[in-house]
Amino acid sequence: MPAIHSVAVFCGSSSGSNPAFAAAARDLGRGLAESGMRLVYGGGCVGLMGAVADAMLQAGGEILGVIPEFLTRREVAHTAVDLTVTDSMHSRKQRMFSEADAFVSLPGGLGTLDETIEIITWRQLGLHQKPIVLCDIAGSAAALGAAIDAAIENGFASPRVRDLFQVVSGVPALLDCLRNLPHSTSAPVDRL
Ligand code: AMP
Repeated sequence: MPAIHSVAVFCGSSSGSNPAFAAAARDLGRGLAESGMRLVYGGGCVGLMGAVADAMLQAGGEILGVIPEFLTRREVAHTAVDLTVTDSMHSRKQRMFSEADAFVSLPGGLGTLDETIEIITWRQLGLHQKPIVLCDIAGSAAALGAAIDAAIENGFASPRVRDLFQVVSGVPALLDCLRNLPHSTSAPVDRL
């Protein structure tokens, strides 16, 4: 049993323009299942969300989908996974947070960016010390990294915010990272 049991994955409800994104989502789903880790995700069956869940199901992995009621139709709730339906986006985020030991950000759109930034800011505020790993696929993490660098360069964030998350390149490196993570890391949040 790895130290990290449940991994929340933030990723696109679309597949994006590069086939490498969906391939990475499938590799992650299969890899999480093979590593005995549980997937916590947004509960949809479309886009990268659907790809990671379908691959996880095919490999016999354990999944919890968390979806707000109003999105069950628009995001096409996955019928083959254990689903928790929440009453709002906020309660979805809170539930995903409490169910996860670590957070992974794959390529995605505004929702993925929002979820990724929020979980980093919660750690910056000292609300948790759970590991956060941004997985770069074909340069997908560069823009978020640049936005964080700009906040640092402009004096709005401490350079130590870079210690709040890790960036890895590709799914094999991500899986290695997850398998070797401690359950929670000591964060320098008191010095930010
Ligand atoms: P996207 O990356 O935009 O495809 O969205 C990925 C996931 O984030 C989907 O499950 C969306 O429902 C969710 N999402 C979209 N907008 C938000 C938001 N403002 N806050 C939190 N999650 C969101």
